[in-house]
Amino acid sequence: LTDINALADEYLRLSYHGLRARDKNFNADFSTDFDPDLPKVNVVPQDIGRVLLNLINNTFQAVKEVENPKVVVATKHIDNTVQITVSDNGPGIPEAIKDKIFQPFFTTKPTGQGTGLGLSLSYDIVKAHGGSIKIESNENEGATFTIELPI
Ligand code: ADP
Ligand code: MG
Repeated sequence: LTDINALADEYLRLSYHGLRARDKNFNADFSTDFDPDLPKVNVVPQDIGRVLLNLINNTFQAVKEVENPKVVVATKHIDNTVQITVSDNGPGIPEAIKDKIFQPFFTTKPTGQGTGLGLSLSYDIVKAHGGSIKIESNENEGATFTIELPI
């Protein structure tokens, strides 16, 4: 059984320090809002960790150019699911591409900076665990990715 709070905390730090190591000018506020009573879930930790890393890397990349960059990872126990949200205050996801971002190789990043595989892989992993992944985004107000995993 996997403690999602511990996993999310680990990957948040890993992602932030990884980006800082490559770009000393990069800076962002990041915080967590974890449910202290979150039940453990029966998942492959490396796989769900990969999903969290993909979503978190995307948020940090999204806030690079904003005034007060912020990334928040939250968890919540809701009925028979564990909900994980990964949010940022970046540019958001335009309506026109919302249905494309989970497709393999779809990327808006410059050549060499994005493979376009992160979200498609994440979608497959979450599905394989019987869960769901959704986006909520208003342009210029950031993006929130919500994952629900069955307990
Ligand atoms: P990549 O990061 O390699 O581009 P992803 O599959 O991780 O591939 O994401 C696909 C696209 O979805 C990104 O290129 C970007 O356009 C969009 N996207 C994903 N996450 C965010 C986010 N947090 N804010 C804005 N756009 C995002
Ligand atoms: Mg990505």
